Amino acid sequence: MTAEIWEKIRQELKAKIGHNNYTTWIEPLKFEAFSGDSLSFRVQSNFMGNWVDRYFRDAICREAAAFGITVTRLSFIVEKGVSADAAAVAKPSPKVADATTPVAIRPDRSPSKPAAVDSLRLDENQTFDTFVVGKPNELAHAAARRVADGGPVTFNPLFLYGGVGLGKTHLMHAIAWELQARNPAARVLYISAEVFMYRFIQALREKDMMGFKELFRSVDVLMVDDIKFIAGKDNTQEEFFHTFNALVDQKKQIILSSDAAPGDIDGLEKRIVSRLNSGLVIDIHPTSYELRLGILQRKEEIFANQFPGARIADGVMEFLAHRITQNVRELEGAMTRLFAHSSFLGREVEVNMAQEFLYDLLKDADRKVTIDEIQRKVADHYTIRVSDLLSHKRNRVFARPRQVAMFLAKEMTDRSLPEIARKFGGRDHTTIMYGVRRVEQLIDSDQGIAEDVDLLRRALKAQ
Ligand code: ADP
Ligand code: MG
Repeated sequence: MTAEIWEKIRQELKAKIGHNNYTTWIEPLKFEAFSGDSLSFRVQSNFMGNWVDRYFRDAICREAAAFGITVTRLSFIVEKGVSADAAAVAKPSPKVADATTPVAIRPDRSPSKPAAVDSLRLDENQTFDTFVVGKPNELAHAAARRVADGGPVTFNPLFLYGGVGLGKTHLMHAIAWELQARNPAARVLYISAEVFMYRFIQALREKDMMGFKELFRSVDVLMVDDIKFIAGKDNTQEEFFHTFNALVDQKKQIILSSDAAPGDIDGLEKRIVSRLNSGLVIDIHPTSYELRLGILQRKEEIFANQFPGARIADGVMEFLAHRITQNVRELEGAMTRLFAHSSFLGREVEVNMAQEFLYDLLKDADRKVTIDEIQRKVADHYTIRVSDLLSHKRNRVFARPRQVAMFLAKEMTDRSLPEIARKFGGRDHTTIMYGVRRVEQLIDSDQGIAEDVDLLRRALKAQ
């Protein structure tokens, strides 16, 4: 490839990615060389190179291919005299809780193997102060607050569940912070179920079950995040169950999180499910527009500090709250990007620019609903469990919702019948076909079903 061909590719890109993206990211790239399948440019900063690589590599490769040139790699040479602005925006990135990192408070008092938990810490941005409360999460928040007060244990465990990125980990960290502040002597252990399992296997291998048991049974508060990771792993489940019982017997608080209700976690033993259900089970609902806007407004301040000089025009936050609805993490990602752009460009970001800068995220937001979502919504609507929906129970109470879910899966996704059949507990695809037909007939003859389907369709589209 030559500089001339790059010029042509660039012009094609301009039409595809929009004017603002083009002038910000593509135009400043200085063609350096093309060798093998690697295309290199000179850029003003690392940040710039990383950004282009992350968000525009695919587009560049695609356009190059249209000219018969195979590019699989981009490389960047940073020119001397990096602008201060660029360096400033390259650094800050808002902390995101990493659920795989276990956190121990007061590791100095951890018994037995302190080394195992020494290096762990909580995310200081995830406190009650930074948690925005709205209708969808108010119950979970209230329960978390209650536990964080550290009074006598009234419900055990506290089981929080809800979709990805809705604040479960945030609430758990907030509880840990609060407990620590109120009672610095309390031993609080936060750990992801994955790490719990990993530790367990390690202890087995190193024949140190005593140490393991001692560590987990000597805490005052145990939090295990994303509990579904231990489901189906028999030994780990067994050990978890014993730990759980031991702590409950000692009246120590346990807090667990998951993306599904206890009864809906595949592979979780019945006795554990019933133990979990004996505590307080609370779900965090999908965010509402008001909550999303509230979160954005709260974060705006934090971001403004991290990206000095960044300006976001009126209406942009509303636009984000309206368009990015799946989860709060994505919302934060979108914000980071807009603040970075604004700071980098030294220009206020307006709605039309936001639309361009976020084109990939917004595309995702427009995506079709998934079969899982359909199953969850339908189960909710008929107040049955997803597991019953997928089961082979023939009772009308389950069979009808199951058929409605099949119908919606066929209508609202582009999955084939065999694919849908697989998602419905590995049925035969003719069963799906039958279910779809049945609902089609019922819609014409049964007002109730027609309304259910209509309502569900709307709800699924709106989420
Ligand atoms: P989950 O554990 O449920 O998948 P997280 O707790 O990790 O979700 O939340 C994802 C991101 O969204 C985190 O950065 C968190 O701080 C933020 N977040 C979620 N809910 C809220 C809320 N109500 N207020 C403020 N930030 C929130
Ligand atoms: Mg989490």
